[in-house]
Amino acid sequence: MDARTAIRRKRDGGTHTPQEVQALADAYARGEVPDYQMAAWLMAVYLRGLDRDETMALTRAMLHSGTVIEFADLPGPTVDKHSTGGVGDKISLPLAPIVAACGACVPMLSGRGLGHTGGTLDKLESIPGLRTRLGIDEFKRQVREHGLAFGGQTEDLAPTDGRLYALRDVTGTIECIPLIVSSILSKKFASGTRRVVFDVKTGRGAFMREPERAHALAQALLDVTRALGYEGVALVTDMDQPLGAAAGNALEVVESIEVLRGAGPADVQELTFRLAGEMLALAGVAASVAAGEAAARAAVADGRALRKFREVVEAQGGDPRAVDDPARLPRAPRVIDVASLRGGHVVAVDAYHIGETIVRLGGGRLRKEDDVDPTVGVVLLKKTGDRVAAGEPLARVHARDAAEAAVRAVLESYRIADGPVAPGPLVRERIPAV
Ligand code: URA
Repeated sequence: MDARTAIRRKRDGGTHTPQEVQALADAYARGEVPDYQMAAWLMAVYLRGLDRDETMALTRAMLHSGTVIEFADLPGPTVDKHSTGGVGDKISLPLAPIVAACGACVPMLSGRGLGHTGGTLDKLESIPGLRTRLGIDEFKRQVREHGLAFGGQTEDLAPTDGRLYALRDVTGTIECIPLIVSSILSKKFASGTRRVVFDVKTGRGAFMREPERAHALAQALLDVTRALGYEGVALVTDMDQPLGAAAGNALEVVESIEVLRGAGPADVQELTFRLAGEMLALAGVAASVAAGEAAARAAVADGRALRKFREVVEAQGGDPRAVDDPARLPRAPRVIDVASLRGGHVVAVDAYHIGETIVRLGGGRLRKEDDVDPTVGVVLLKKTGDRVAAGEPLARVHARDAAEAAVRAVLESYRIADGPVAPGPLVRERIPAV
């Protein structure tokens, strides 16, 4: 493989054959193409793009660069959900056990916090003892026995994506739709699911801020999913303000358990049940999205979903008593009210700013090797559309030490005006399965 030919072709706006993409990815995986040549190719792709066939070829090459899990003898069809990431997006935690309690199997492949956004694995690991580093056999056994496992990418699953992602991270080539699509899909399909519901976020706290970019990403995810013989459906959802009230690892676990108990913030409930309906319909467990939503609500109402979550927490080594008594979760030593400087109506809460504040409190990573503090975060007491009086608390900062900078940053995240404003719709768009 002469990588120079591929680099020049893409640099000059040409199109690769699928064989050329495959050969380049395979040669990189074998160590025959060095990082500097791959980085040059990635930048050419960033500037020139990949068409659907090229994106498919890259996805397929990365998917088959390691183990591709195949499930046999499962009690139900497989389905997973992928969110492109946001602030306060804890939806996977209540969603996965609800869907498993309704009869689908969820081999859930999740990530860690990235930039200003939180990650499901970091959130789950705030439950004492819970392990998310599952070997492939353990992951498969757990899906077979419990209908749900929460795992992350390992060296065995799409390893070429792992290496390419690290290279993109340091070469300014992350924000590129075909590279994002192949990265997400290679991991998802390596983990054994046949179907994925995509929750593509848009707004201030999303990686795709503009709705047009979010739509383009959702469409590209679906196109390649179907072209590879898998099934998918996508929602584009709001991430202008954080989702729910809690943002921060253990705080979000508490809120997720509330949802599994039939309570919790209205927006988290709405999105959880909607995505559950979509997953159950896509998996063929429900006749329609509405029927899937109804089944999901029933699984919460009669306690099956909460029992499933407890069962899976225990199976992954976590303390199931934390599910019944969230006071057993780690808690920050300091809780500080953020009082409004004026009265009026909340017209915006900047999700990006809140996410960055949590990272600086220690709840996310500034460097890849950093540990996250499970206890810290922000609880929003007021959200867009709410009325507030001068001096009334807008939010609470949960911190390990003094947190004047965090209090200031939270205050600056709020925009308060005289006239009321209605929050926009949570689900902005649905891109259907066909
Ligand atoms: N998440 C991924 O897994 N890959 C990307 O490229 C971006 C987000």
